Amino acid sequence: NVNPSQVITKLISQGIMASQNQSIDFDTASLLAIDFGVELSLKEETEETEIEEEIMAELDYEDKEEDLKPRPPVVTVMGHVDHGKTSLLDAIRESHVTTSEAGGITQHIGASVARINDKKLVFLDTPGHEAFTSMRARGAKVTDIAILVVAADDGVMPQTLEAISHAKAAGVPIIVAINKIDKPTANLDRIKQELVENGLLPEDWGGDTITVPVSAKNREGIDELLEMVLLVAEIQELKANPNRKAIGIVIEAQLDKGKGPLATILVQKGTLKVGDMVVSGTASGRIRAMLDHKGKQLKKATPSIPAVILGLSEVPNAGDLIYAVENEKIARFYASEKKNQLREQQFKLDDRVTLENLFETIKEGDIQDLNIIIKADVRGSMEALSQSLQKLDIKEEVKVNMIHGGIGGITESDIMLAAASNAIVIGFNVRPNLNALEVAKREKVDIRTYRVIYEAIEDIQKAVKGMLIPDI
Ligand code: GDP
Repeated sequence: NVNPSQVITKLISQGIMASQNQSIDFDTASLLAIDFGVELSLKEETEETEIEEEIMAELDYEDKEEDLKPRPPVVTVMGHVDHGKTSLLDAIRESHVTTSEAGGITQHIGASVARINDKKLVFLDTPGHEAFTSMRARGAKVTDIAILVVAADDGVMPQTLEAISHAKAAGVPIIVAINKIDKPTANLDRIKQELVENGLLPEDWGGDTITVPVSAKNREGIDELLEMVLLVAEIQELKANPNRKAIGIVIEAQLDKGKGPLATILVQKGTLKVGDMVVSGTASGRIRAMLDHKGKQLKKATPSIPAVILGLSEVPNAGDLIYAVENEKIARFYASEKKNQLREQQFKLDDRVTLENLFETIKEGDIQDLNIIIKADVRGSMEALSQSLQKLDIKEEVKVNMIHGGIGGITESDIMLAAASNAIVIGFNVRPNLNALEVAKREKVDIRTYRVIYEAIEDIQKAVKGMLIPDI
């Protein structure tokens, strides 16, 4: 905070003819500083900061448009129980996932690669929105496209609605597979009508939701379905840079008695190769071997391609990122940094929106929309509550956005959706079950239950204005 001319005068008196824009060495600077009553110390560039800078540069590196190459879509199958998710995945595997040699067995690794018209599609083997949303709650976005299975003889059911909300909240496009069309009671028009009622207007009715009639049992319509998935993938222009150090997501992991820790990973950027040094959480190691879903040895895995890797020091967590790094030193650094990250994650949980911190969060500009999930005992009250809340003129820049509404008690699935979407859960004449309460506590999700619609509305109004009395 001294005037530059004072500094220059001092320097001249010491025989150094420097101008304002020149640099001086440390010794000169420290002598000069003493004259101004300041003590300088030289900060050595430590190895640690160098490593950190290297890692940050690698992670922050933005791929240039010309580096990006098309990658296969990653697909999750969702829908109501017994509507045929597993059967559909089996049908796809049997007809489009060829085994490596005659008699070869397709292994369960958590994901498989199907082929149609010489193009690849990757299917996650665990159907249902629960797995999908719990990954998302951990910050991992894996799925590009959701196939929503609806049984043609049963129609849109509660878990169908959940799946729609979960996919929409994640911004993942939905393709509807109307299954079981072989059944005499199948009624395509009725299913489409129900889809319309729930915000999915079929393409052949003038909307933009692709619906494909299929029979997982008779292997009918499977090719058409996969072609539609490819079409949607093309529109999305899914791309990644294969020419950089690999970053991926662990989708499954286990300890094998003979082989040691095994992890199925899905590469998101770059190319993972045998011999690469990798880290994931506190696990690290050099990749000894990689296997594909056919049990065949792989030398490398490019973006979207799943692979089982061998060579990690311990079993990593599903949903965690996995990075290829330059050497062991960096890997060790990463693993120790992980502890700090875990602490930070805890901070992030503390940042989740609650009615109590809503006012502050809005003021700080951290949220624009208040995401809510409404569960109620009957449809009528759910709709009434949702309408009054969404109509609520709370603040110009803040909108109430209902990401899911359903009938029945508050479940773990609702909480995970709330956690993944930074939402609060409102129960009207319903309560959370024990499991949901436990998960809500862990994920720090705010649950509010009411018996009078007016009170719910009043609470939210007060919360926005920062006038809510804490719920004890
Ligand atoms: P998930 O619970 O959604 O995974 O459903 P599953 O794949 O286990 O299927 C539930 C039941 O529906 C099973 O008995 C299947 O055999 C049957 N199923 C599945 N797809 C079809 C189909 O296309 N046609 C008929 N008729 N039955 C089917």
